[in-house]
Amino acid sequence: LPISLPVMSDPARRPPLMPLDDALARLLALAAPLGRTDQVSTFDADGRVLAQDVVSPLQVPPADNSSMDGYAVRTADVTAAGVELPVTQRIAAGQPGTALPPGSAARIFTGAPMPAGADAVVMQEDTETLEGGARVRIQVVPAPGQWVRRAGEDVMRGATVLHKGERLAPAGMGLAAGIGLNQLLVASRPRVALFSTGDELVMPGDVAPQDMKPGAIYNSNRFFLRALLTRLGCEVSDLGIVPDNRAATLAALQSAAHGHDLILTSGGVSVGEEDHIKPAVEQLGALDLWQIAMKPGKPFAYGHVRRGEGDAAHFMGLPGNPVSSFVTFLLLVRPFLLKLQGATALAPAAMAMRADFSLPKADKRREFLRARRNAEGGLDLFGNQSSGVLTSAHWADGLIDLPAGQTIAEGDVVRFIPLAELLA
Ligand code: AMP
Ligand code: MG
Repeated sequence: LPISLPVMSDPARRPPLMPLDDALARLLALAAPLGRTDQVSTFDADGRVLAQDVVSPLQVPPADNSSMDGYAVRTADVTAAGVELPVTQRIAAGQPGTALPPGSAARIFTGAPMPAGADAVVMQEDTETLEGGARVRIQVVPAPGQWVRRAGEDVMRGATVLHKGERLAPAGMGLAAGIGLNQLLVASRPRVALFSTGDELVMPGDVAPQDMKPGAIYNSNRFFLRALLTRLGCEVSDLGIVPDNRAATLAALQSAAHGHDLILTSGGVSVGEEDHIKPAVEQLGALDLWQIAMKPGKPFAYGHVRRGEGDAAHFMGLPGNPVSSFVTFLLLVRPFLLKLQGATALAPAAMAMRADFSLPKADKRREFLRARRNAEGGLDLFGNQSSGVLTSAHWADGLIDLPAGQTIAEGDVVRFIPLAELLA
């Protein structure tokens, strides 16, 4: 071979790494929205994905109203400071007023409808009460429209206030209620079967720390994966730790395929690993082991488990290393589950931030570094970026998305994805 040629590794043994964006695009192409919907109380809609547009049948506010406690006036009557007017009515919130006679003022309170004819409110701090409230002295010259909230300034009648595919959050729930909706049509919760693999795994509570056998570790993935799934609006069947043998794995997969949209496992997807997931999923459906060009999180499996004629549950296998499991969930499983619910916004918002540290060593893979915003408006890096160190994910409040082959010098601007975006 000419020595100038790069040495190629054996493609059969070491498949080329798949760019993360390609892996995500493939997964999203396979995530056909489930199409099942539920009618839920607006109270219970937090985090759910809307299954239809919400169009307002009315305007909000319904009528012009005062945004201050004070006096409603006709500005034509108050052309100079010090004008005195008789107070002809009192309008509290929830009460309709009557038309304001020219040359008079109405005592008015925040949220009360403007009486016909009045075109401004003078706040009570700019007035002086006379004759026990029968008259008022207006100390300022009001501008037309002053302290008046216009009918429809929040929501116009016929406006689409919430959109199909949006994930409901508290403000949207309030908005829906504000136009009279006590029920909302949302996508049904994806049903996810979760299990962990690995004979080294022990459940906390089953064995006390001082009694742990050499080589045994507690199952931490099960706890954060279940919480992540629940936060994403999933109905989780936690199948626990599946024993490391073929029959048990087959039985677990087969029963999980019924009644679940996705089977999610952690561990046992590294290339060449002696494990039962791969042959078992292949026996019941199909499985692809992907080597994704990301760090942490290289090994990832996608496949399906048949449950009937032309029907199958999705299968996803996450790496066992806790940080790899955590990050691949956030970057691959999360958008997949959102798409199953018909959500339109799948990519987390990122921001440009200054690195207050340096990272002199580049990696061949795209990295997702655990980092945290500091009080100076920059980012600090967690010292140990090993995929087994879950402390990094706990310490961090976001991930730096660093392109393959790049280093970071102090002061560089990097792409930062807040964990708040990914955990919502
Ligand atoms: P694997 O992907 O199965 O090769 O596992 C990679 C590493 O992650 C090993 O050190 C495992 O012990 C560890 N691991 C696998 N599953 C879990 C789990 N559920 N909780 C904590 N660590 C795990
Ligand atoms: Mg394992």
